[in-house]
Amino acid sequence: MIPVMRPWLGKEEADAAAEAVASGWIAQGPRVRKFEEAFAAAIGTPHAVAVSSCTAALHLALIAAGIGQGDEVVVPSLSFIATANAVRYVGAQPVFADVDLATQNLTPQTVEPHLTARTRAVILVDQAGVPADLDAMRALCDPLHITVVEDAACAAGSTYRGRPVGAGAELAAFSFHPRKLLTTGEGGMLTTPNGSIAARLRRLREHGMDISAADRHHSQQPVIEHYTEVGFNFRMTDIQAAIGLVQLRKLAEMVARRRVLAQRYQKLLSDISGLVTAGDPPYGETNYQSFWVLLPEEPAAGRDDLLQLLADAGISARRGIMAAHLEPAYADAKPSLPVTEQLTMHSLILPLFHQMTQAQQDHVVSVVTSALTNSMPAISVP
Ligand SMILES: *Cc1c(COP(=O)(O)O)cnc(C)c1O
Repeated sequence: MIPVMRPWLGKEEADAAAEAVASGWIAQGPRVRKFEEAFAAAIGTPHAVAVSSCTAALHLALIAAGIGQGDEVVVPSLSFIATANAVRYVGAQPVFADVDLATQNLTPQTVEPHLTARTRAVILVDQAGVPADLDAMRALCDPLHITVVEDAACAAGSTYRGRPVGAGAELAAFSFHPRKLLTTGEGGMLTTPNGSIAARLRRLREHGMDISAADRHHSQQPVIEHYTEVGFNFRMTDIQAAIGLVQLRKLAEMVARRRVLAQRYQKLLSDISGLVTAGDPPYGETNYQSFWVLLPEEPAAGRDDLLQLLADAGISARRGIMAAHLEPAYADAKPSLPVTEQLTMHSLILPLFHQMTQAQQDHVVSVVTSALTNSMPAISVP
C-alpha cells in the first residue's frame, strides 16, 4: 500500500528520545526549552511556547486574545474541525466564511461580509501548508481591533513574503502531528512577538502556575508556587521535544523534497483538462503538507469512485479538506459557502511523503489519469 503520508523519522530521533529517557527528566524541562528557542529562531519570532497539540495552541491563543462568551470569531468551515472547536472551547461563536478556490484560504473579500460589532477575532488558516495572505487580512482587521490568529498547523516550513509563515502574526499556532511535516508524535507550538503574551501562555499551559515545575525543581531554595488563574495541562514532554529538535533540523530538507515531488505531480497531471492542483500563491511558497487536486466539473469518474479506484490499486488517498458546517457537530449553522462545498466534495489528497519513489508516484498518476481521461487504455498491449 502506498500511504498518503509517512513521517520521515530515523535513528537520530530514536537516539534523541532514548537520551531524554536516560536523563531521568522526561516531562516538560530543558529539552522543551531548547526546542522552543530553536523553533523561535527558525521562524524568526521572539517567543515560542510549546504545548501538547495545535488544538491546545489554538485554545490558548483565543484565551490570550481575550475571546469569550458573546464574541464571534470568523473561521473557514473548510479546515480540520479543531479550528472551529477552539472557538467553542472559549464559549464564543464560530462564524463560517468561504475561501478562495486556488489557495483554499480565507481572504478579506470572503471575511468582510461576516464582520459584526461582536467580531473579536479571525482564525486565518494556512490550509494544507499554502500560506494565507496575512498582511491583507491584518489590513482589514487591525483597524477594527479584531485579532488575527494564524492557524499554521500545516505550515511549518512554508514562507510568506520571504519570511517563514507565522513570523508576521500576533499569535500563530503550529501542529507536530505525524500528518504534518515536522512531527513529535503529538505536539504543538505557539509563536508571538509579545513577551507578556508569551509569559501568560507559559502559565496557562501549566495550570496557571507562576513558576514552572522544571524551574522549581532546579531552584536551590524551596519555592512556593502560586496559581494566578485557571489554567490547563497542555505541556509537551521532553521526549517529544528531543524528537522535535532533530526534526526541526531536517525541516528544510523535508520541504525541498516535497516541493520536487509536488512539481513532478503538477507536470505529470497537466494533461488532464480542468484539473486544478495545489500550488504556490503569488506571495509565498507552500511546503505541500497536502497535495490536493480538484476534479474537473465533468469528471470521467466521481471523487468517491476515484478514491475507490486508487484504493483498489494499493494507493491510500484521502478526500479533500473537510468542511465543519457539513458535520453534525455544527449542523445548526446553515451558511452559504459555495467554494467550500465545491472543494470539500470534489477534491482529494494524493500520497506525498519524503521517501516516495518516482515509481510510486508514476503509479498514482497512471490511476488518476486513466480514471479521468480516455487517453490511457485500461490494459496495456505489449
Ligand atoms: C491538524 C490541524 C489542527 C490540529 O492539530 P493537532 O496538533 O492535531 O491538534 C488544527 N488546524 C488545522 C488546520 C490542522 O490541519
